[in-house]
Amino acid sequence: MAKQVVTRTYTASIRNQQQVSDDLDSLGFAASKLWNVGRWTISRVWDEIDYIPEHNELTAYLKSHERYDDLHSQSSQRVLQELAEAFNGWYGKRRNGDTRANPPGYRKHGDKHPRSTVTFKAAGFKLDTQYDRVRLSKGSNLKEYWSDFILCEYQTRPNVDLSTVESAQQVRAVWTGKEWELHFVCKVEVDVSEAPGEKTVGVDLGINNFAALAYEDGHAELYPLNCLKQDDYYFSKRIARCDDADSKQANRLHQKKSARRTHYFHTLSKHIVERCVEEGVGTIVVGNLSGIREVEENGESKDWGKHGNLDLHSWAFNRFTDLFEYKAEMDGITVKYVSERDTSKSCSCCGRERKANRVERGLYVCDDCGAVMNADVNGAENIRQKVPPSLACDGGDRSNGWLAQPSTFLFDKETGAFAPQEQITS
Ligand SMILES: [Zn+2]
Repeated sequence: MAKQVVTRTYTASIRNQQQVSDDLDSLGFAASKLWNVGRWTISRVWDEIDYIPEHNELTAYLKSHERYDDLHSQSSQRVLQELAEAFNGWYGKRRNGDTRANPPGYRKHGDKHPRSTVTFKAAGFKLDTQYDRVRLSKGSNLKEYWSDFILCEYQTRPNVDLSTVESAQQVRAVWTGKEWELHFVCKVEVDVSEAPGEKTVGVDLGINNFAALAYEDGHAELYPLNCLKQDDYYFSKRIARCDDADSKQANRLHQKKSARRTHYFHTLSKHIVERCVEEGVGTIVVGNLSGIREVEENGESKDWGKHGNLDLHSWAFNRFTDLFEYKAEMDGITVKYVSERDTSKSCSCCGRERKANRVERGLYVCDDCGAVMNADVNGAENIRQKVPPSLACDGGDRSNGWLAQPSTFLFDKETGAFAPQEQITS
């Protein structure tokens, strides 16, 4: 066992919900409005000069906008940062040939704005662990002369004591569909296990296979999204049938859908970390889409969908990597993020880069060395290779073709666990 300072997010309910919900609502609506202003601005810039602004450019541009002063400046900054991340994530996916990815949409249901999450950073909150209270700052537009902050009385889960954390980094006010809750992002000192080994594994996150893993010794695993897709489809249909999108029934369905996703991600992240422990992995390398931004040659990516996306990118991937990182950390495994740039274009066997980034029926075919492999596994292996191998292993000697037959793990609804799919031999 070793001591390590890690980041933890603790959820807390708000005991004085009645007193603060109107104030929190106004901040949540304001965050949605600012998101939409930013969203509109990005599409304008894109149309004019084929360029997606970075969040700091967006912030500089919108700082004087009226909506920016609805929230504390750090909270406004965070909204625009999330928007820029969502755009870059989508853009990276498109660039990697994922034509089904849609750009982030506007946050609007008809004339109504949803309640967006509001993030409060260092200067935007004051935590009082003695009385279990936190003061959240408003923007100058929403301040009334008697109160320029919202005082929330919180209640954490019984096993959490915020007075023992090293520091609280930020507080998020999150609308659950029913009420507001608080998420405290803290630095905490914990006991972690020794690393299970020194090997590396590459992880490619995507929309067809939610995760593709390429291990150092050459074998690979796929985790398709089948179960989550069925779930999404089922719930979306049922929610669409509700008369009112804000009705109790619709809210319940939203909550159920969200709970099932969370369960799925918990189980998947746990399963993958367990596999890594079994394989003696010390470092997990994950492809990170944010920070990728280049104009695509064929201009195809300008063809934005009319409807907002399924929110599977920004939403689900962040949620998954949070859980995943947490579980890996506890087992002494380091998670590193590398740019996913060009990882789907290059051949992981010979390194040759192809111009066309299309894959044939999910296969990557290299004209140069003749390798044929699952495209997502090829991506995962390229991601893995972005981190230099440890001294203990030389990376091994792999022959072509080993990546062609990854094992596939499917989520079994009956057992609630991931199990290898029976090999089908034709
Ligand atoms: Zn090749």
